[in-house]
Amino acid sequence: MDTATNPRNPISLCDKCYTQVDPDDQFCNSCGFPLKGTKEEKEKFRPIPVKPKLNRREYEKRIKDATNTLYYLAGVLVFWDIILFFAVKDDPDVLSYVIPDVILAIVFLTLGGYAHNNPFTCIISGIVLYIIIQIMNIVSDPSSFASPITIAVKTGIIAFLIKGIKSAIEGEKLRKDNNLV
Ligand SMILES: [Zn+2]
Repeated sequence: MDTATNPRNPISLCDKCYTQVDPDDQFCNSCGFPLKGTKEEKEKFRPIPVKPKLNRREYEKRIKDATNTLYYLAGVLVFWDIILFFAVKDDPDVLSYVIPDVILAIVFLTLGGYAHNNPFTCIISGIVLYIIIQIMNIVSDPSSFASPITIAVKTGIIAFLIKGIKSAIEGEKLRKDNNLV
């Protein structure tokens, strides 16, 4: 018997996973079992162990992590700016230190807003932008990197962005492997 059919009620069940299938389907929608396949094909069939619900949750977690990375960074930049502002508030150039980071924080917030749809692009844009700005800073004012605290903060931010990229890559892989939308 190809499919377990109840004669009184034309419902077909997959031989392998017992999910209800359409009698016209070639393959089970749930496990991929070749419903209309040859005996040999059916014997050779090995279901791929998929856990769609778990994978969706894992996927959503990764995307949330990647999105939050951008939000946290915006928060860190604003926090850092406040410290910086009070540390150098007597310096006539204080705004030139603070304003670029405020703009960057706004950009990170904006990228975070779009990250749910396209986390990978958003987070890559964030890190590329951040690194470009740091390189421009080094070129224009090498002394701005002299403080160990500055170096620690900037290294921390880059490490955090790399973690966000990892989440985005893992999320993308889960999405592709499980045909999640
Ligand atoms: Zn099945």
